[in-house]
Amino acid sequence: MSERPAGRIVPPEALTGPAAGAVVAALAADGAEVRFVGGCVRDALLGRDVEDVDIATPDRPDAVLALLERAGIKGAPTGLAHGTVTAVADGRPFQVTTLRIDVETDGRHAEVAFTDSFEADAARRDFTINAMSLDPSGDLFDYVGGRADLDAGRVRFVGDAGARIAEDYLRVLRYFRFLARYGRGLPEPSAVEACRDAAGKLGRLSAERIQTEMLKTLGAPNPAPAVELMRETGVLRAVLPEAGPSDVLLALVGIDDRDPLRRLAALAPSGGRALAARLKLPNAMAERLAALSPPLLKPPSSLSSSARRRMLYDLGVSLFRDLVLLAWAADRDGAAPRWRAMLDEAHRWERPELPVRGGDVLAAGVTEGPDVGRLLAEIENWWRERDFLPDRRACLDRLSDLAP
Ligand code: ATP
Ligand code: MG
Repeated sequence: MSERPAGRIVPPEALTGPAAGAVVAALAADGAEVRFVGGCVRDALLGRDVEDVDIATPDRPDAVLALLERAGIKGAPTGLAHGTVTAVADGRPFQVTTLRIDVETDGRHAEVAFTDSFEADAARRDFTINAMSLDPSGDLFDYVGGRADLDAGRVRFVGDAGARIAEDYLRVLRYFRFLARYGRGLPEPSAVEACRDAAGKLGRLSAERIQTEMLKTLGAPNPAPAVELMRETGVLRAVLPEAGPSDVLLALVGIDDRDPLRRLAALAPSGGRALAARLKLPNAMAERLAALSPPLLKPPSSLSSSARRRMLYDLGVSLFRDLVLLAWAADRDGAAPRWRAMLDEAHRWERPELPVRGGDVLAAGVTEGPDVGRLLAEIENWWRERDFLPDRRACLDRLSDLAP
């Protein structure tokens, strides 16, 4: 290899284990030089968990598919237009992308051309910390100073911020996402100004892309400074006009709650179903966001233990937890131990099961039909009001009192 690496590291197991090893071996079988690229290299350098593994190769996608097939590895053409094939080894996905350069961009879509230069491929990536590549043996290639930026907590565009943003406005949101996750100290004024200048253009972005970036930003350990900078530059208003003040979000961060959707509910408390629809959230997340918006159930920390159990029964553990955490975050002078105890109790709680069923109602002489459900509901309510204590015997007695 003629190129000189910038350094050497010991790649983590996610990049050297049997699955990654098999994919790399398959792709290199024709002599191609393949490297890990992007986020997995960045996170490997930081010693953080590597989740998605991206691999780059000079081979074209059809050759990649053939090489995988020859090695008995499943390959799916997930993004052929962009040169991406997903290889699945040991049930784990690996994105294999042909080295590329962007030839034409209009702020939303890029027309790509393939290349065999890792350096050219690095130049079209968004931030220096995302533009490094790593040879499977541990040689690190860093054409744009990504490692120094990573060490310093600098999120820096590859090239001129304004020009790179004009190619793809999503990069504004990605800037804040990576700032939240990897930034330290003051952000670069030129990058911030370029984001501010582009705020008016963000309306063009698709809901799905806004959703992904917003949730990833909110999922950072402490997204609050990045969110405040988004607000200050007009970016937040452009992509999340539903956003209110940040105090509840700040409090949630303070109690170390990392759930991005809960954080979204804290930042945009009135968003609810309309926000979920606008961001095209998947159904389960949309339902959850709707349940976390007005009229919001606010469990007080002073709730009696039997009322807590009833609430858990009615809402289920996960919605109960959501509501407790939001109420805690909104509780300015709340006593943390009480809130914490509520969460611990929810964690330990086992859902009690009504000790009688439809069959028992029929056996009591009720004819099949809506009466069965109505009677069962009545008994369930009675049992619930008694803190779920009545046993089967007591419930059957109650049933014979109620049955006509
Ligand atoms: P994460 O760990 O959050 O997935 P990531 O760095 O892997 O972070 P992805 O969105 O998965 O981020 O993208 C993979 C890589 O592709 C990035 O590291 C970057 O090099 C490049 N990339 C992705 N989106 C863009 C973009 N809009 N413009 C330029 N480069 C991009
Ligand atoms: Mg990734």
